[in-house]
Amino acid sequence: MAEITPVKDQITADVLVVGGGIAGITSAIETAEVGKQVILLEKEPSLGGRVAAMNLYFPKMCPPTCGIEINLKRIRLNPNIRVLTLADIEEITGQPGNMVVTIKLKPRYVNERCTGCGECEKVCELERENTFDHGMSKTKAIYIPHLMAYPARHIIDPEFVKDESMKKVAEACPYDAIDLDMEAKTITAKVGGIVWATGWKPYDATKIDNLGFGKYKNVLTNVMMERLASANGPTKGKIIRPSDNKEVTSVGFVQCAGSRDENHLPYCSAICCLASMKQTTYIRDQYPDAEIHMFYIDVRSPGRLEDFYTKKQEDEKVHFHRGKVAKITENADNGNLILHAENTLTGKMTTTEVEMAILAIGMVPNAVDSPPPLDTKLDEYGFVAQDNDNGIYGAGVASRPFDVSGANMDATGAALKAINSGVRR
Ligand SMILES: Cc1cc2nc3c(=O)[nH]c(=O)nc-3n(C[C@H](O)[C@H](O)[C@H](O)COP(=O)(O)OP(=O)(O)OC[C@H]3O[C@@H](n4cnc5c(N)ncnc54)[C@H](O)[C@@H]3O)c2cc1C
Repeated sequence: MAEITPVKDQITADVLVVGGGIAGITSAIETAEVGKQVILLEKEPSLGGRVAAMNLYFPKMCPPTCGIEINLKRIRLNPNIRVLTLADIEEITGQPGNMVVTIKLKPRYVNERCTGCGECEKVCELERENTFDHGMSKTKAIYIPHLMAYPARHIIDPEFVKDESMKKVAEACPYDAIDLDMEAKTITAKVGGIVWATGWKPYDATKIDNLGFGKYKNVLTNVMMERLASANGPTKGKIIRPSDNKEVTSVGFVQCAGSRDENHLPYCSAICCLASMKQTTYIRDQYPDAEIHMFYIDVRSPGRLEDFYTKKQEDEKVHFHRGKVAKITENADNGNLILHAENTLTGKMTTTEVEMAILAIGMVPNAVDSPPPLDTKLDEYGFVAQDNDNGIYGAGVASRPFDVSGANMDATGAALKAINSGVRR
């Protein structure tokens, strides 16, 4: 069985994988299944990364459970994998084949005796903003991160752990699993090579002043839409607009919101067109008569994903408009949004009123905020460069924008490089 709780202050492995999203999970499994020892390190309380927050995956339109759960089972059953959650890298020294990593393990305040029974939540009076739902819902101060969380164990938000009322919560646990005095721990790991799979965060839409996010309640982002449509999301999957909980009859998708724009993200995130097309399906399934308007510069649906686009074009309720939305304003009478754009095919300025607008924001590599150590080269946008020879290899969206299948292929290649890391010198 894969270990979840570290027992020693110093551990060894052939490969360290940093980041437990789909790419990191894939790298770890590929490494372990050829008989190598691997540490899979995740800074959040559970594995899964951004994919765990999706409603459905394109192109097959299946829920993330269908991919992630199989992989979690492979992790659970493989003794070559050691999973560390709530783990931060403090330092990495050494060279390929012989690297020493200092890791800080933050306290969860709940130990491995937790069964996830939820008795603690029943008596907990404090609530926190649910970051998994992008602030659209709340959880108790003691919570399980999400439906597919691995480990499936509660955690206490550190902001609330010292609150007097948490003692009552600890007493309510039938398994004596809550430890309000749990402390951080530092351990070291000796490894041969490192896969850097720290993924992405959504571009901060409040920076795109002209599109009204944060100003108008009915302007949402694509990642929020995933949660809104999800059966375990803030509205139990019912797509309603935030200002008045109204069912929607018209929705606008704003492609390249901040992307391919020198003032924001100069690059294309490669998946946003397909993600929006996927999200039109969420709306059409609930509201067959809703009119959907998608504004684009040019639609990018590489390779076999072109079929997905072609199918969408056949939908008479999905209207494709060639032109970038320059501005969103609000109709103060009804909370509707007015999308102002120039149609680049006709040259005409257009205004389109919709009840809700979804901004297709791009993916920003997390390596921008926490770059890998040992002089790892990043490209001009902060993705891990391909030509590193320091024992650290980028995988998944840490190395470039990818969909899930692309991220997985990249992660397999990175695992191979990390396994051979020491040998290559
Ligand atoms: C709106 C939207 C919809 C999408 N829909 C689809 C779809 O339907 N189909 C599809 O194929 N693709 C889709 N994608 C793309 C998909 O989300 C990515 O391909 C996928 O998330 C890549 O996985 P990853 O593991 O590289 O990164 P992530 O999912 O970001 O995982 C990275 C992990 O690393 C962890 N981490 C970050 N920093 C550190 C650190 N310093 N130390 C330790 N851990 C760290 C994070 O917490 C996270 O768990 C969509 C993207 C968007 C924006």
